[in-house]
Amino acid sequence: MDNLRNILKKINIKGELRFDESMSMHTTFETGGPADIYTAPADEDELLALVKAVRSAGIPAFILGGGANLLVSDLGIRGAVIDMKNLSAIKIDDGNFICQAGAPVDSACEAALEAGLGGLDAFYGMPGTIGGAVWMNARCYGISVSDIIRSVKYADSSFNCITRSFAADDFSYKLSPFQGGDSIILEAVFSLPPKDRKEIKAIMHSNREDRRAKGHYSGPSAGSVFKNNRDFGKPSGVIIDSLGMRGTKIGKAKISDGHANIFINTGGASSEDIYRLIKLTIDRVSSAYGYLLEPEVQLIGDFSYIR
Ligand SMILES: Cc1cc2nc3c(=O)[nH]c(=O)nc-3n(C[C@H](O)[C@H](O)[C@H](O)COP(=O)(O)OP(=O)(O)OC[C@H]3O[C@@H](n4cnc5c(N)ncnc54)[C@H](O)[C@@H]3O)c2cc1C
Repeated sequence: MDNLRNILKKINIKGELRFDESMSMHTTFETGGPADIYTAPADEDELLALVKAVRSAGIPAFILGGGANLLVSDLGIRGAVIDMKNLSAIKIDDGNFICQAGAPVDSACEAALEAGLGGLDAFYGMPGTIGGAVWMNARCYGISVSDIIRSVKYADSSFNCITRSFAADDFSYKLSPFQGGDSIILEAVFSLPPKDRKEIKAIMHSNREDRRAKGHYSGPSAGSVFKNNRDFGKPSGVIIDSLGMRGTKIGKAKISDGHANIFINTGGASSEDIYRLIKLTIDRVSSAYGYLLEPEVQLIGDFSYIR
């Protein structure tokens, strides 16, 4: 690791480079221990050079979007965290709506509104970046990212930059072809139909208000903790709610009073508190109904020490 620190210090990085950076500053749960290396490359060339240097040294590189779907261990992340935040350009070119991966979803929604293009409006108010939304195949108000995506530009594990379109069945509910691999999403092109600006604005406003009413913004969280599973017949939140678990606390982590599938950091929670609450919920639902809830939140780093 010291060797890599020296290599990185020698690369004349235009973006940010820090060591032992607390991940609590980069996750919407506001928890998580230190990353050995944190870097926010200034542009695509620097991003690829950095990831290549890190991975060639045999050190893992974790790609960070907005940190809106992450539970990072209190022990932190070994290796490098590469923050995409500076790759955030949005442009419209020949009918294509093109977003760099680090563009915040809300910024993309606002740019689409300005251009009078519909489709992204459903995603307004969802924290995170375009890259994270593609990787997660995020879904809001009945629309998945895969419903509106035209193509994705990404760097594969050999750092070849590829632009390709995907078939409908390459994606499914909260699953994308990028999960389980180490490709880096660089850019997404969306297929957005023209739509009346007033209508777009009304949808954006009503979705944001609906989220507010459901308590999405009532404290640091990562949105829904568990995926929904059609086989269970009901949304995960309804199942958890049926066990009277709203308001359940472990340490400073709490199941939201407003929505049983949203867990909140009430102030000073550790990732361990949240992890234990996740495990408790899985165990209670499994004992009551035999259903095994699947976390949607990505567990990053080592949680194996928690019994
Ligand atoms: C209040 C609130 C409400 C939410 N509501 C919803 C909702 O309605 N629907 C929904 O689907 N989700 C929702 N979420 C969860 C979250 O917003 C989404 O999952 C979002 O898409 C995560 O994007 P991100 O940029 O924050 O990704 P991160 O959390 O940073 O990363 C998620 C995963 O994507 C990978 N990744 C990110 N960017 C890249 C890239 N460029 N290349 C390769 N891999 C990458 C990361 O390595 C990680 O594995 C909500 C979260 C909050 C806090």
